[in-house]
Amino acid sequence: MKPENSSIENVIIIGSGPAGYTAALYTARANLSPLLIAGSLDPKTSRIKGGQLMYTSDIENFPAGVRAELSEDEFQGLHLDSDAGADYIAGLTGLSGPNLMKRMEAQARHFGARMVEEFVTEIDICSAPGEYYVLQTQSGKEYRAHAVIIATGAAARTLGISAEEKFFGQGGGVSTCATCDGHSYRGKNVAVIGGGDSAMEEASYLARLVNKVYLIHRREEFRASKIMLKRAEENPKIEFLLNKVVADIKGKPHPAAAHNKFFEGKENVAAAVLKDMQTGETSEVPLDGIFVAIGHTPNTELFKGQLCMDEAGYLIYDQHLRALPSPTCENAKMRSLEYVPGVFVAGDVADHVYRQAITAAGMGCAAAIEAERYLAENLASEKGIPPEALDISMQSIAQSHWSSERDAAGDKPVIERVEEVAEVCAIEHNK
Ligand code: NAP
Repeated sequence: MKPENSSIENVIIIGSGPAGYTAALYTARANLSPLLIAGSLDPKTSRIKGGQLMYTSDIENFPAGVRAELSEDEFQGLHLDSDAGADYIAGLTGLSGPNLMKRMEAQARHFGARMVEEFVTEIDICSAPGEYYVLQTQSGKEYRAHAVIIATGAAARTLGISAEEKFFGQGGGVSTCATCDGHSYRGKNVAVIGGGDSAMEEASYLARLVNKVYLIHRREEFRASKIMLKRAEENPKIEFLLNKVVADIKGKPHPAAAHNKFFEGKENVAAAVLKDMQTGETSEVPLDGIFVAIGHTPNTELFKGQLCMDEAGYLIYDQHLRALPSPTCENAKMRSLEYVPGVFVAGDVADHVYRQAITAAGMGCAAAIEAERYLAENLASEKGIPPEALDISMQSIAQSHWSSERDAAGDKPVIERVEEVAEVCAIEHNK
């Protein structure tokens, strides 16, 4: 343990995706001097500082970050002044996933967020509810914080074949996000792997853009809901290839190599080698892209036994984005609390529905405002945080009162949902 006089951070943010960087930006601008523990490249899990967007080529659905060709008339129609126009044009020249994440990092740093490239290996949430939380990192360092924003994200599951890694991201042809990368495959032939709702959704989405979609699934039964399966089955552009797994992926010289040095010597997807699960026979399907949609795994191992999770491991939170204690938390005081004081969640670690950069960023902003309010209301005077260290805006206080009134009035749908899910969590963890 750290010596008694060691400093306690106001707020630590774990994770460096859109949720983490946005939480860092907002808490930094609120004068909280946040510390963001960003991760770095972890070869074992392929987790990388910057999160899932580091594997995405073009970002076209993040507001103000687009790649599009505008005609002179369209540009004039925007009525931008010359500075804004120049910025806008700079944005138009292409915003890759890594580029967007670098911008987010730079912006958060500019306003005073501090960052370390480390992995959190342990966190003690249960033992001191509301006092401070203790985090250990892989380099053996220990950090303490009054508030923690968990933005550790989720990782798309992958097939685990070596060729998949070779072609993954950066124009290689293997992707785990049709909404992010589908646009690059207009008029081409692609495959979607999986038999759940994600696979059906991605196949239906891609069918609007591409020439043909092969839906490749390893058996004949589907986890997908009937309605989503039916929609995909009825789509003339989608062909189902069942009882098949991708055994290998073949490549061809990258077509962009002729005009872009980055792609020199690189290959992209040319075909998938499929193995039939019943006969063992192999066959080849010529393809331009492969979308792996076999589910996501939230990065929540750190919190097992301490925070409430749903069956798939996503963190459960209340209407203030506060994490809920796990019923298996060792500390009885923590178990008795309705929520974990000072621990907030943001982004894909708690969201398996939307999973977009913009929704994660929105949650990061909300979690930061909640953390600011928590520190202002609970800790500033009690724990000796100098008031000037907290830029407690009237707006924040007004929002806080508004929220309390809303709670008092009974925001039933949300509260009922939380109770319901907490019950599920309790059942799951008591099994
Ligand atoms: P999922 O339901 O777990 O389905 C994963 C699919 O991938 C399964 O068909 C599974 O095959 C297959 N799979 C797993 N590992 C594989 C491997 N190594 N090789 C080949 N195939 C493999 O995951 P999901 O589709 O992402 O859905 C997750 C949750 O989000 C679900 O609750 C879903 O309903 C929800 N969701 C909802 C919507 C919506 O309502 N709009 C959209 C997307 C997701 P087996 O069946 O053989 O195991």
